[in-house]
Amino acid sequence: MMAKLPGLGPRSARRAVLHMIKKRGLLMAPLADALHTVAASARECLTCGNITTTDICDICQSARRDTGTICVVQDVADLWAMERAATYKGRYHVLGGTLSALDAVGPDDLRIPKLIERVASENITEVILALNATIDGATTAHYIADQLEGVVRVTSLAQGVPIGGELDYLDEGTITAALKARKVF
Ligand SMILES: [Zn+2]
Repeated sequence: MMAKLPGLGPRSARRAVLHMIKKRGLLMAPLADALHTVAASARECLTCGNITTTDICDICQSARRDTGTICVVQDVADLWAMERAATYKGRYHVLGGTLSALDAVGPDDLRIPKLIERVASENITEVILALNATIDGATTAHYIADQLEGVVRVTSLAQGVPIGGELDYLDEGTITAALKARKVF
């Protein structure tokens, strides 16, 4: 089961399980409890798609966040990467993937219609595209920019995001620089 997790091959999965069995009192029981709680209560924020235990996530509910800006990311891991950089003060929109002709992923398979709806109804002044610098990420960014053209200012993260790079792997300084130097799409 563990070997099916991303980033864990059969060998590292075996080592992790063995370690947990050795430390079962200290590690395994608390982990089992935590997993049980998350399995029972985790869901997607109805507004942005962030992982939350309530209908609307903390970021969407926070009075301290700028409500006029939406940062569009591919996955929740990318949202976490942006939050680690602690520069961005707006809110998010998690697509849940990228468009992909190869995997037959279309706009309606992602949270794109919901994004268009939010821009129309939430008094948004800027949409920042923070998608991965992959072919599918770029295709998705272009599609969204087309949909929002003439409706709202659309920008994207600037230099610093390497080609093929994923946000989740970038350090906080690089994300901050890319955010500050963002350009109109
Ligand atoms: Zn939310």
